Amino acid sequence: MLGMMMHRPLLISDILKYAAEAYPQAGIISVRTEGDVHRQTYAETLGRVQQLANALQARGVQMGDRVATLAWNGYRHFELYYAVSGMGAVCHTINPRLSAEQLIYIVTHAEDRLIFVDTTFVPILEAVQDQLPGDITYVVMTDRAHMPENSLNALCYEDLLAEQPADFDFPEFDENTASGLCYTSGTTGNPKGALYSHRSSVLHAMMICTCLGSTMPEGSAVMPVVPLFHVNAWGLPYTAPLLGLNMVMPGAALDGPSLFKLMDAEKVHSAWGVPTVWMGLLAEIEAQGRKPEGFGDLVVGGSAAPRVMIETLEKLGVAVGHAWGMTEMSPIGTHGHMPGWVRDLPFDQMIDKKSLQGRRAFGVQMKIVDEDGKAQPHDGVAAGELFVRGNTVVAGYFKNDEATQATMDQDGWFGTGDIATLDPNGFLSIQDRSKDLIKSGGEWISSIDLENAAMSHPDIANCAAIAIAHPKWDERPVLVAVPAGEARPALEDMHAHMAEHFAKWQLPDDLIWVEDLPLTATGKISKLTLRKRMADYVLP
Ligand code: ADP
Repeated sequence: MLGMMMHRPLLISDILKYAAEAYPQAGIISVRTEGDVHRQTYAETLGRVQQLANALQARGVQMGDRVATLAWNGYRHFELYYAVSGMGAVCHTINPRLSAEQLIYIVTHAEDRLIFVDTTFVPILEAVQDQLPGDITYVVMTDRAHMPENSLNALCYEDLLAEQPADFDFPEFDENTASGLCYTSGTTGNPKGALYSHRSSVLHAMMICTCLGSTMPEGSAVMPVVPLFHVNAWGLPYTAPLLGLNMVMPGAALDGPSLFKLMDAEKVHSAWGVPTVWMGLLAEIEAQGRKPEGFGDLVVGGSAAPRVMIETLEKLGVAVGHAWGMTEMSPIGTHGHMPGWVRDLPFDQMIDKKSLQGRRAFGVQMKIVDEDGKAQPHDGVAAGELFVRGNTVVAGYFKNDEATQATMDQDGWFGTGDIATLDPNGFLSIQDRSKDLIKSGGEWISSIDLENAAMSHPDIANCAAIAIAHPKWDERPVLVAVPAGEARPALEDMHAHMAEHFAKWQLPDDLIWVEDLPLTATGKISKLTLRKRMADYVLP
């Protein structure tokens, strides 16, 4: 027997309409490319979103058309999220850190009709303009006074809005309609597109609310440093309005001192981003001898957060949530909000739990399988490839059957390519990406574990453990490290520091000091580039 309840479509436009009604005072604070700080409530944002939707319609944008953005975190980018999806078109966020070749590929593959671009990124488009389809309309996201000279024949964002009325009838359509498109940065092959729907995005926004506990009261400020150009800034542009949170958008200034200043001024309670960003902020906290005023919560993920980072922040009174996810998962798979029994543990044990990759989020199913595809127990010990399933997980890649077939199993689970353990309480521990695991003498060594142990050494600012080919053992681990200061401890010192966590054969064969580590387009350490850089390296 079926239930007798209504079925109403879950639509993204309803989120903003709700926020404008329920939380009219809350809104968006943006550091603009124009150089100032701009404030706008959700009610004002809704008016501008409607103007923008009218402008898009006037330019012939139709349901299903792809409209791209190449922009920092700011209120105009947020407006595009709602105007484009709200009218039934698809908001394709482009990562400006992609290579020219990847950029050309995804704009062509997505068949973008319009590209909205921040002033900063205009040169990126100018450089590849000749290789992009000729019928694309470009719009620079600024006002007339700040329009840069350009060869794109670009329109001006504020001019487009000014011509339009602030009332737009958001259409009602199937909740499975595509709403957003984001390409994974593609460490191998061409980038692959995750095509989100209204239903998946709204469910994801509500799912995040269930992950936050009561840590973020209405009116508190949340700062996404994680970019709106990658995986919807972890869903915050949808969740923050739902909860009446103020969104503090840092724009282009993502260094430690700039973030500290902004957080201090806007009393940012919760900040979200990848570990590399927080290393910069921690250095500034140390320099100033205090944390930014009001800072009490941090969500970190995208790559493994070093234990020492979590410990340092917790000692400063910042509750750290370590989360795991993927572009293909909208992206949240786990969250780092701890139950009471973990918060009550002795400090060190509590940090041990927080250093894991969080707990399974409601709505996401997980299984780990061995090399033969056999499901493994969730006992916190058995490791295998992690597969996921749920309403916020891709069912395949946009216009890419080959990649779809390579990642989905027969039962419709998505293969993450991560090697993990799961425990009975839903705690996930990522051992490694399968391609980053180091295989020595037939045994696996987790590069994440090595990095975690090395990072707690005071002379190391950042590091990566990678596999180097070895004639006898197949592969051996080598640690590549950026020094924190002048000191360069010897390999033996590092072994002594790491010894308690590892068997002798698991310790790195060499320690190489470098000025910096290569980063991917999403700000993570690029082991692929690092391995290429080390191609000629020979083990001692
Ligand atoms: P890409 O890095 O290719 O752009 P994503 O941003 O979707 O793709 O990254 C997803 C991957 O990042 C995961 O499969 C996992 O390997 C890694 N990852 C994400 N969060 C964590 C975490 N907290 N700890 C370790 N690895 C993580």
